[in-house]
Order: sequence, then structure tokens, then C-alpha cells
Amino acid sequence: MGRYEELGVRPLINASATLTMLGGSRMPPSVVAAIAEGAGAFVELEVLHDRVGERIARLTNNEACFIGSGAAAGLAIAVAACIAGDDPAAVDRFPSPGGPRDEIVVHRSQRNGYDYSARMTGGRLVEVGDAAGATTAQLEAAFSPRTACVLYFAGSFFAAGALPLEDVVRLAHARDVPVIVDAAAQIPPIANLWTITRDVGADLAVFSGGKALRGPQSTGLVLGRADLVAACRRNAYPNHSLGRPMKVGKEEMLGILAAVEWSLDRDEPALREGYEETVRGWVDALAGLPGVTVERGFPGFSGEAIPRAIIRPGPGVTWTRETLIDTLMAGDPSIALARVGDDAAAINPQLLEPGEAETVLVQVRAVLGALA
Ligand SMILES: *Cc1c(COP(=O)(O)O)cnc(C)c1O
Repeated sequence: MGRYEELGVRPLINASATLTMLGGSRMPPSVVAAIAEGAGAFVELEVLHDRVGERIARLTNNEACFIGSGAAAGLAIAVAACIAGDDPAAVDRFPSPGGPRDEIVVHRSQRNGYDYSARMTGGRLVEVGDAAGATTAQLEAAFSPRTACVLYFAGSFFAAGALPLEDVVRLAHARDVPVIVDAAAQIPPIANLWTITRDVGADLAVFSGGKALRGPQSTGLVLGRADLVAACRRNAYPNHSLGRPMKVGKEEMLGILAAVEWSLDRDEPALREGYEETVRGWVDALAGLPGVTVERGFPGFSGEAIPRAIIRPGPGVTWTRETLIDTLMAGDPSIALARVGDDAAAINPQLLEPGEAETVLVQVRAVLGALA
């Protein structure tokens, strides 16, 4: 019996997404080995952060890299960096930042639970547009001498009606305002590690270390401008600061570095073809079942480049996708699918190890057969 079982916690097959609630991802052996090595020594944490940050920045074609304890922590510290810079008095003032700049410009249509990370600094959100979207004139009007940064959420959840990131960057830079992009789940493609900053021009892009990168769940990357990354460091652990409670340990630093190296080494086109093949297999095998509609869907949960099999109850059937999802979750093995729209469930091949795609198919087919 493993530790999880001994605790009465049932490991599950994650055919849903890199959800934090389901454990994010699994770490490959090179990451686990790096963590074990890191755990066995004392080092100066700041020197290690310098070296790991430099290495990840170089590998990802960025000027600099700050390592946070997740993307949500990275957002809070990036916003703090834009508000306080590296001024010790300002660093010390959170969560009542005062100072000359404490406004965070954000699309009304992109407001979501993760903007708590920005609000916890004490900075004030200034909304642009309405729930349906925004215009460039509305963005222009939101800027003031007190603007510290723009916070932009990437991904399909937040795309509707929002201004393109290119336009936001252009208008913000015209006023010397930095743009922070929450790109927590925007891998694949792995190239997003540099396109959002180097090519599109965002000042900082924030990624989860524990989602598609398959590093420790408690890590995240803030990539981009060297001066802002330096300000992130000043507003973070081990300094007494807003970010002191969001600590990353030495072993996690080695772990996220190994995860970035591992992720960059993967053959993305081959992986993508593998996902397509798995999804084709699922769609072909489930297509003939009575009362079921199944098709390939693209992109994935938050707009990442992942195909999925989308399952819907056919016309006239009495079961719903909630029945399907709950029954699979309660099954043995327990399997997590994703919800799509109002009535569909998705099976995602991204996080499966060899053999699990077949297990998922057997279970899904059995449940759908029983529901029919
Ligand atoms: C997952 C996610 C986060 C939080 O990431 P953590 O690494 O769990 O802190 C923030 N923003 C978005 C859009 C996310 O999908």
C-alpha cells in the first residue's frame, strides 16, 4: 500500500486537465531526482535563485526569470514589483501601497478568481470595458498617472471581447506602463515561454511550474524584463516582504529547472501527433454507441494546443454529462474528465501514461453502455 492509499486518498487517472485541484501534473524522473538531490544540501538560497533564474531565462529566451511558488504567487509578486519597484520603503508598505502608482488596469471581461493575487497587494483594480469586451478608447481612458501596470489574462476563457494583447502592449508602452500576462496554463505550445514576452512584447509572463511543465506543483515562473524581475526578487522571499509567505525551497528550485529542461527536450510535433492518435481512437471506439455524440474538440481546457474527445448525451436520452462525470469519478479506477460548455464532457490525452488511454476508454465505454 502506498502513502496515498494508507491515508485513504485514492489516486485517480487525470483525463481532465492540469488542474491544481487534481494535483496539477506528475513529475518525470529527472525532476524527482533533482528534488531529491536538492533536499540533501545547504546552499545560499539567493545565490541558487540567481543561478536557476539565469539558466531558465537563457533556456527560454528571456532576459530574466523569477521563481515563485505557483503562478498565482507569481502574479501577486509581479504586481507588487510594478507598484513598489525595489524601493525598500515601498516594499515595506504592502498591503497599503500608497506611493505614486497603485492602479492595476484589467479588462472587466477578464475579471476572475486569480485577480485576487493582484488585489491582495492593496493595489486598486481599474476595469476596462464591460462583460462583453472593451475598446482601445476605453483602455486609453483607464490609464492615469497612478497606473502601475496592466494585468492581462491569456487563454480561451478570457479571449471573448478582450483587446488583442498586441494592442494592449502598444498602448501601455506608449505610456511607459508595463504589461503582466497571466499565461499560467498556456503550454503547449512550449514556445509561449518566449513568444508572449520576446515577440509580443509583454513585460512579464507568468506560468505555472506544476501544469504542463510538469515541475513541482508549488512553483511558477515569472519571465521577462530584467529590471522588473529584480523588483520581483526584492518583493519576495527570503526578504521580509509581501512575498515572504510564498516561499520556494531549494529543492523546488532544482525541480523546476529540471522540469523546464525536460519540457524543452520533448518533441512537440510527435507529442501532438500522439494526442491526435489517442483522440481518434477514442472517437472511433465511442462513435457507434447508442445515445452518445462524440467528436474531436480543439483546443484544450484553457486554450492550450491539445485535442480532446468531446462526449455529449444524444437527443432523447435521460442521462446528463454530470452523471457520466460523477460515475467515472466514483469508479475503480477513479477517472476525472473535464466539463465543456453546458452539456459536454471532454477526455484529454495530455496527462496519461502508457496504458491509461486504454483504461479510460474501457471505463468510459462501460459507463456509457450502462447509461444507455
Ligand atoms: C492555474 C492558473 C493559475 C494559478 O496557477 P498556480 O500555479 O496553481 O498558482 C493562475 N491563472 C490561471 C489562468 C490559471 O489557469
